[in-house]
Amino acid sequence: MVELKTDTSIDAMYEAGQVVGRALTAVRDAADVGVSLLELDEVAHDVLREAGAGSPFLGYRPSFAPTPFPAVICASVNDAIVHGIPTAYRLRDGDLVSIDCGAELGGWAGDSAISFVVGRARPADVRLVETAERALAAGIGAAVVGNRVGDIAHAIGTVCRAAGYGIPEGFGGHGIGRRMHEDPPVPNEGRPGRGLRLRHGMALAIEPMLIGGGTDGYHEAPDGWTLRTNDGSRAAHAEHTVAITDAGPRILTAR
Ligand code: MG
Ligand code: MG
Repeated sequence: MVELKTDTSIDAMYEAGQVVGRALTAVRDAADVGVSLLELDEVAHDVLREAGAGSPFLGYRPSFAPTPFPAVICASVNDAIVHGIPTAYRLRDGDLVSIDCGAELGGWAGDSAISFVVGRARPADVRLVETAERALAAGIGAAVVGNRVGDIAHAIGTVCRAAGYGIPEGFGGHGIGRRMHEDPPVPNEGRPGRGLRLRHGMALAIEPMLIGGGTDGYHEAPDGWTLRTNDGSRAAHAEHTVAITDAGPRILTAR
């Protein structure tokens, strides 16, 4: 079931989203060659604590997961696409990092992700990250009243495929509200004009995931969480929580 939020609830979701945005900005500022993923998790955790916010990631255990998630961010490096567990790994020059973070504040959830390169960036990685952001912007642009979920999926998929990148099927965006994951699913590829019609008061997490090598295959790492590209190429992920309103899409996790 898709829950419609009141304008007051969307304002409250914006407050949760702002905490996520601050956490991601702090992580990005702290990320550098030699900094560990666990240290980045601590940076995000500090922002959540200062805001009095909880983490929907910490202790999260969906049906596929062998263990509760142990951190407040996902940190996915290079060939990791999403759901990377922060470890003692220290970032190296040229690493492509995707950070996903959530927050719960006042009973509402926010969810957002960024990708960036630490140190000297390869041109191919810059292009991959920029395309992820363009795909996200295209998806948000299609998140308007009267459109359908398939229009968002189509907008994202078109940008990714035109640039020659792969898309991991089976993972994508979702409704969000009191819980981080709600209906409807928002795939990263689809047919325009299909699926649920978008209405004022819907809140969606829109999140393109791109595989740089151009193939779609991925697999789960031995930790049971991290998704990695099958072709060993690098991946990028970008996400915002967005409210669909009569005045247009409102980015609740804007930074
Ligand atoms: Mg996320
Ligand atoms: Mg999400």
